[in-house]
Amino acid sequence: MSEQEPASTDTGIGEPSDEWREYRGAPTGTDIECEGWRQEAALRMLNNNLDPEVAENPEDLVVYGGTGRAARSWDAYDAILDELRELGDEETLLVQSGKPVGRFPTHERAPRVLIANSNLVGKWDDWEHFHELEAEGKIMYGQMTAGSWAYIGTQGIIQGTYETLAELGRQEYESDLEGKIVATGGLGGMSGAQPLAVTMNRGVCIAAEVDARRIERRLETDYLMERAESLDEALEAAEAAAEAGEPYSVAVEMNVADMLEAMADREFVPDIVTDQTSAHDELEGYYPSGYTVAEADDLRESDPERYVEASLDTMERHVDAVLDLQERGAVAFEYGNNLRGQVEEHRGREDAFDFPGFVPAYIRPMFCRGRGPFRWAALSGDPADIHRTDEAVTELFPENDSLTRWIDLAQEQVSFQGLPSRVCWLGYETDDGLTERARFALRINELVAEGEISAPIVVTRDHLDAGSVASPHRETEAMKDGTDAVADWPILNALLNCAAGADIVSVHDGGGVGIGNALHANNHVVLDGSDLAAEKARRVFTTDPGMGVIRHADAGYDEAIDETDQSDVPVPMRDRR
Ligand code: NAD
Repeated sequence: MSEQEPASTDTGIGEPSDEWREYRGAPTGTDIECEGWRQEAALRMLNNNLDPEVAENPEDLVVYGGTGRAARSWDAYDAILDELRELGDEETLLVQSGKPVGRFPTHERAPRVLIANSNLVGKWDDWEHFHELEAEGKIMYGQMTAGSWAYIGTQGIIQGTYETLAELGRQEYESDLEGKIVATGGLGGMSGAQPLAVTMNRGVCIAAEVDARRIERRLETDYLMERAESLDEALEAAEAAAEAGEPYSVAVEMNVADMLEAMADREFVPDIVTDQTSAHDELEGYYPSGYTVAEADDLRESDPERYVEASLDTMERHVDAVLDLQERGAVAFEYGNNLRGQVEEHRGREDAFDFPGFVPAYIRPMFCRGRGPFRWAALSGDPADIHRTDEAVTELFPENDSLTRWIDLAQEQVSFQGLPSRVCWLGYETDDGLTERARFALRINELVAEGEISAPIVVTRDHLDAGSVASPHRETEAMKDGTDAVADWPILNALLNCAAGADIVSVHDGGGVGIGNALHANNHVVLDGSDLAAEKARRVFTTDPGMGVIRHADAGYDEAIDETDQSDVPVPMRDRR
């Protein structure tokens, strides 16, 4: 499929590697190429990110989210594989913006791989400097899970999207989305989860997408039900489904700004309006109105400045259309792509922020309790291993109805892409001194040790998590104490997870909101059934969600302060407050 995808700008990444062509995804089974499962997990997850079933444009090393890459160049990819195969159990490999740059003796409990992607010093931390360096092959856009080798396809984001829309339903309608119509944009790597997340919540979704091939891909993978030939056809079908209370999703091949304006012209007001086009990147992510995809791709190559202006003009119209529909009664929220920030910064429109971001609106209460998108992948490649973990998580948390409902829905409706994997939101809440995340990870480790799961499971998460991001237009928008832009927290998160013994730890700039707008960290722990894995899991799955609790308690959120009381989280300054 990759040769059908639009080409990104030439960043001199070279021709796809022969090794990648041979792998075509993660190696599976119980035989390993590396010295141990920790190194093997890194090799499999890197290749899983670049599986044509998983990545949006693997021949360009692009995994998702505009130009989020897994390695800086094909040569760097080959070098990373060589290093991982040679890496000992007492060594640590350093990867700087997708290129291996060093390997040092450390110790068994230390991370095997440390990754830093796309980071620039404050004054130079903008797209202009980034693109200059990228064109010279000196830096790479790592997005969030692309450059940290934790992306698992659209299935990775689906639960977060499902949870967000479920919370919106509870807050706005005291129910699910039955009979409600959601209008949105983007059917790419993560945005493609939107139609399925809407229908899982029993609602109706109309999605605008400029690229016909992306629409096809979502139809093929059952994330989307139908494609309409025109907006009128889509509106008619959507209204009929909403009236009948039937879940339904439909795509229209058009620019989202044009679609929202056309809706207003027809006096059609969707119940909910949001967007997940790659607006964080005005050059390589968002498509301007008035051009076909091919014309826009040509313009990007021939006249990038004109492209950027056209793209920002469309974004301004896009924001105006959202504000218009909001005024006419739609529930409007930005879905983490920095659309509002772009229009405020480049068009001086402060009213762009007159509709909220999804984190303060729907997610922050969960962050306060350390809840976030825990995800795990079966390194065996065997779906039965994930089904065993599904049973384990529901056995472990029988009182958690929404978790059980989610696992049932995911088993029915979410197809695996690449390595079989699963996501669910678990938090800090403790029982017998163990957090939810630690209890579940330890149970998986036992199942691997007992041979009930055929090969190790690697546990990781989205960078979007409770205590791992500073992103004033998204995860830390409108913090209670005004600390939206304080970036000490993700750095502490990464340092602490190294100290706790995570197997891969990464720190990135940019991600879903673009260069200079966010810093965030991630980690992986490999559960191979050993005592060492249990020790690491117990520590990391306490420190990692614990960062979310203390970060929000420090900002003064009552739910987080309550969690520190209930779960005995030490907060040194609390008693002096
Ligand atoms: P992607 O680049 O894979 O997909 C974006 C899609 O939008 C592409 O298919 C593209 O053709 C389409 N598109 C671009 N401009 C358009 C326009 N004007 N009209 C209609 N279609 C257009 O990226 P992705 O992984 O799907 O992520 C998209 C954006 O959403 C990113 O900015 C990402 O950070 C954000 N996002 C945030 C969250 C979150 O906060 N949890 C979740 C998912 C995505």
